[in-house]
Order: sequence, then structure tokens, then C-alpha cells
Amino acid sequence: MKVLVIGSGGREHAIAKQFANAASVKKVFVAPGNDGMKNDAECVAIDVFNFAELIAFAKEQSIDLTFVGPEQPLVAGIVDAFQEEGLRIFGPTKEAAKIEGSKSFAKELMQKYNIPTAASATFTEAEAAIAYVQKMGAPIVVKADGLAAGKGVIVALTEEEAIEGIKDMIGNQRFGDSSSRVVIEDFLDGEEFSYMSFVHNGQIYPMVIAQDHKRAYDGDKGPNTGGMGAYSPVPQISDAVVKRAYDEVVVPTVQAMTTEGAPFTGILYAGLILTAEGPKVIEFNARFGDPETQVVLPRMASDFGEFMMALMNEEPYKLEWSNDAMLGVVIASEGYPGDVKKGAKLPSLEKLSANFDVFHAGTKLVGEDFVGNGGRVLLVTTKATSLKDAQQKVYEGLSKESWTGFFHRSDIGWRTMK
Ligand code: AMP
Repeated sequence: MKVLVIGSGGREHAIAKQFANAASVKKVFVAPGNDGMKNDAECVAIDVFNFAELIAFAKEQSIDLTFVGPEQPLVAGIVDAFQEEGLRIFGPTKEAAKIEGSKSFAKELMQKYNIPTAASATFTEAEAAIAYVQKMGAPIVVKADGLAAGKGVIVALTEEEAIEGIKDMIGNQRFGDSSSRVVIEDFLDGEEFSYMSFVHNGQIYPMVIAQDHKRAYDGDKGPNTGGMGAYSPVPQISDAVVKRAYDEVVVPTVQAMTTEGAPFTGILYAGLILTAEGPKVIEFNARFGDPETQVVLPRMASDFGEFMMALMNEEPYKLEWSNDAMLGVVIASEGYPGDVKKGAKLPSLEKLSANFDVFHAGTKLVGEDFVGNGGRVLLVTTKATSLKDAQQKVYEGLSKESWTGFFHRSDIGWRTMK
């Protein structure tokens, strides 16, 4: 089969690679992709929002399946556009993508269907939001309602911090339209994990779980980012907890979306936190997580292409996962998640690539050299029989290279090693 992957980050690199490694898949295209993926797929220079050209390309190449990586084109309706042309595409419609595109929609859905999550309230006026914070006290969490590239969340330890955040989001339109509405929710304490499932027409195939490290610096300090590293499995989360999350969160959410007239197809990503009362939802995403995908998908033991076709055709399939331990560390440009200077030269990736899976996110080829071309630049991962071995191996590999102009965390996996 021929597959078209939409997107250009590390997540899309992992998706493309998994398809490229599947015996059932003859050819993988990525639009627009990035220079670092060229060994795994053919990059096609079409923007993710240029639906007309993407559709024309899919028709011209007789693509069997289009797989959408990032949230923005989903929220903009790429799936609806492909479906109108009778093309097979995997991802939620614009309506179903609201589970990620609007936090207030997701919160209302959870409240209505008794899906466990933090208590919350939604505001469009700063004064009312501030009054609510003053009534509830800190710690408290302020979230931009719309998409904000993983940066629209403030976990405020003081009321002042929450109020600053509200003024910045609603008053200064920090995230434009995305923050004209904010969700304020109770602070939850516990171990976090990411639980993703393939969903289509009521069928649910859960994946193995992963844990992401959202904060920029070691010890989970510093600002929230899109994710600084991840690992899978997550031994401190028991199978019983995962089963509970499946029964209490994943299944009721899929059913609720159908009942609401927005049946979900695509990757349902549940960001969960294990509280004293059990797992609760921190957020839903309507697509694969980045960097979780890069440590979860390589653990798929089944043929990815074969599985996707069975799922789309609603044929039963036994989806298998390996027991491998995967751990990945993000290399980011200095300054991330704030402003970054692009163009710093990366070390030669030849040696690293020979020993590790290197997923490219924000890189660009200039002459013979890869340079940084964004906030998160690379994810360096490895597979081992234990997480401890994987961690040691990755950091040993990273220590042999010079990362001037870049930084990475030195403690990915610490929660499971402690
Ligand atoms: P999100 O983008 O919604 O995943 O939030 C980013 C990060 O903020 C999460 O991974 C959590 O670490 C933290 N966070 C979000 N909501 C809460 C909450 N209600 N309580 C505590 N931490 C939270």
C-alpha cells in the first residue's frame, strides 16, 4: 500500500518510519516532512493547510491511506475535506477534533458523561476569572481554551501567578483567539501518564502507555513545553490502573462522542493523572502525542499498514506490542520554550544515527550539515531490555557529542528510576 503522512515533526517521522518498516507498505510520502526524514520517506513540499493540493496529490499517487499527525489541520477540517472527495484518511473530523481544539468542550463532555477530571469553570471575562481564582485559592491551573502548542497551561502555585496568567491570556491575547476563553481547574497531584488509542467507528485499540516530561529543566522545573523526553513502559502505573482508565475514561469518551453526534476516528490521546481517587483526565488530544509516539510506536510488533487497513475496514485484528523499554531525550534550541535562535549547527548525526533512532523535528539541512530550525530539534531514542539500560545508553551517546546552542534534560525517566 501507499501511505501519505501529514506533518513535519518528530512524531510524523516516527509514524513514517513505522509505516516504512511495515512489509505491507510499499511507499511512504510525508507532506511537507523535513530534511531529516529523507532516509525513511519521500518528502513532498505541500503545506499541511493546503488541502486542495494534498487531495490532488493523494489522487494522483493513488494513496491508500492518509494519516494526519498534527492537531492544527485536524481542527481546520482536513479529514472532512478528504472524505468529501472519497479519500481514505485517518483522523477526526473538524467536529470530533473539538475534543482537543476546545478545552471547554472537552470539560463539558466529561462533566456530562461522568468522566473523571478536575473540577473547572470557563471564563471569557478576566474579572470573573480573577474573582474565581480568589475564591478557590492556589494552587490552581489556568488553561487557554484553544490550541497553544502545548504551552497554554499555567500551573499556578500562587494566586498572583494565576491572575497574571489570566491577564496575559484574556487581556493581552497571549495565544490570540485561543486564549480569549480560559478554563480554570483544580490542581491535581499525582503520577502522569499518556494513554493513546486507535479509534474508528466505536472500535478501540489501546496502545502501551508512556510518560512525557513537560517541564523544560531537570527535576521537572521551569516552564511547560511541548515535551522534553518520554519513555515507555511506565512501570509505576499498574495494569489495574490502565484497565481502570480504559473502562472509566477511554470507552465512555468514545461512546460520548458518538452520542453527541461527533463520532471519533483517529488517535484519542488521554493525558491522565493518577490521583488518590483513581486516574483523572488532564487533557484530551485528537492525535498522537509528541514525543510519546516516538517511544510507543516502535513497540508495535504488528504490521502497522496491515493493522490500519483492518481498523478502517472494521475487521478484527490482534494488535501486538513488544516488551522492549524505549526512552527518548529531546534536544532543544537554547531559549526554548521562549524565543530561540535558529541556525546553530548540530554535531554530525552519523554516529548517533548508527546506534540510536534519531527523530528529526526542527532541523534543516544546510550544505552537508543539519542545523537547528525550531524549538525542539531532535529526539534521540533507544530500545533496551530495561528503562535503566535505555537511559544509560542514550545519555552515554549524547555525552560523546557537543551540543553548543542546544540543551537537553539529563534526567528523563527519573520518576521510574527513583
Ligand atoms: P496539558 O497541556 O493540559 O497537558 O497540561 C500541561 C501540563 O500541565 C500537564 O502535563 C500537567 O503536568 C500540568 N497540568 C495540567 N492540568 C493540571 C491539573 N489540573 N493539575 C495539575 N497539573 C496540571
